[in-house]
Amino acid sequence: MNIHEYQGKEILRKYGVTTPKGVPCFSVDEAVKAAETLGGKVWVVKAQIHAGGRGKGGGVKVAKSLDEVRQYANDILGMTLVTHQTGPEGRLVKRLLIEEGADIKKELYVGMVVDRGSQRVALMASSEGGMDIEHVAEHTPEKIHKVFIDPVKGLLDSEADDIARKIGVPEGSVPQARAFMQGLYKAFDETDASLAEINPLIVTGDDRIVALDAKFNFDSNAMYRHPEIVEMRDLDEEDPAEIEASKFDLTYISLDGNIGCLVNGAGLAMATMDVIKLYGGSPANFLDVGGGATTEKVTEAFKIMLKNPDIKAILVNIFGGIMKCDVIAQGVIAAAKQVDLTVPLVVRMAGTNEELGKKILAESGLPIITANNMAEAAEKVVNAAQGK
Ligand code: ADP
Ligand code: MG
Repeated sequence: MNIHEYQGKEILRKYGVTTPKGVPCFSVDEAVKAAETLGGKVWVVKAQIHAGGRGKGGGVKVAKSLDEVRQYANDILGMTLVTHQTGPEGRLVKRLLIEEGADIKKELYVGMVVDRGSQRVALMASSEGGMDIEHVAEHTPEKIHKVFIDPVKGLLDSEADDIARKIGVPEGSVPQARAFMQGLYKAFDETDASLAEINPLIVTGDDRIVALDAKFNFDSNAMYRHPEIVEMRDLDEEDPAEIEASKFDLTYISLDGNIGCLVNGAGLAMATMDVIKLYGGSPANFLDVGGGATTEKVTEAFKIMLKNPDIKAILVNIFGGIMKCDVIAQGVIAAAKQVDLTVPLVVRMAGTNEELGKKILAESGLPIITANNMAEAAEKVVNAAQGK
């Protein structure tokens, strides 16, 4: 789960991290009022979307008067912001953050991710703040410094100080940088984050350490114990198909191909997408209906897939274990009738009650293309999607 920058900064402040003062706004008038309340002479108008690279895309502007705040708020609110993280379709901006302008002497980078290899949280830091960190990692990997944090001891003072010096924090500000990194780690750990990125972390003209940007991702499986974070969810930023699927407990991820996949089990769903690719096709989604798929669930899954205008064919790939093939066959038929299926449907099923399942499909009178194994199913669905 993702949240907005202003929400990330609210979390950071609770952990003692210094951020600029700021106010989230939903209209131009609110933005001007926020700037008045904040006071000062320089403000930054920042688009709030769940994607980075906003500055380069024109979604972060420095305003030197209230008139400029009004003008930039007007420009940015309602714009479709395209960044390297949004894809070419961009994102509609519906929220702004009006923030006091910071006096930047140096831009640094500090991020944390769960590192599966070391089974620890990895702290990554660089002197190259404000830039795309993937770019730094590719071209100047020696400028990225890492610590794998011991989960029992936490981030040690010595580790934090060492990193701070390596990324060029002035000596007098090292204790502040240490407090920042330890605060960030505590926030990361206690909120079940999977990623936190402060890019840039700045050194101000008077040598203070301030988090100027904040990006957080959280482990969705842990959100049941963080209702205060779930409240920060912004459904405008999420894929409507994925929201709909989550209501029915379906694991659904939109992709950009044209073959819908309905599969039970995440591993089989991955393998199904691979085999479609192998035969020259491209999946329109990942969809795991789970072990206890009912007719209702299968019907909803079909409805969600068919809302995608790109879809040209559907592949149902079921392994009957606990879930029996005849039950799935009945579900598929009921769903196909209810949703007025307009694209070719290829079904491959194997396992418990396979013969009965196939018989039910054959006798349904529906134009279902059956396949005996995954390779055959993939070949048939790829051909069907190409109109062959
Ligand atoms: P993004 O990473 O999406 O481009 P940032 O929040 O990092 O957005 O902002 C981009 C750049 O804008 C920063 O690297 C910084 O130079 C500048 N900036 C952002 N917020 C402020 C602020 N409050 N004061 C001064 N400059 C800022
Ligand atoms: Mg940034």
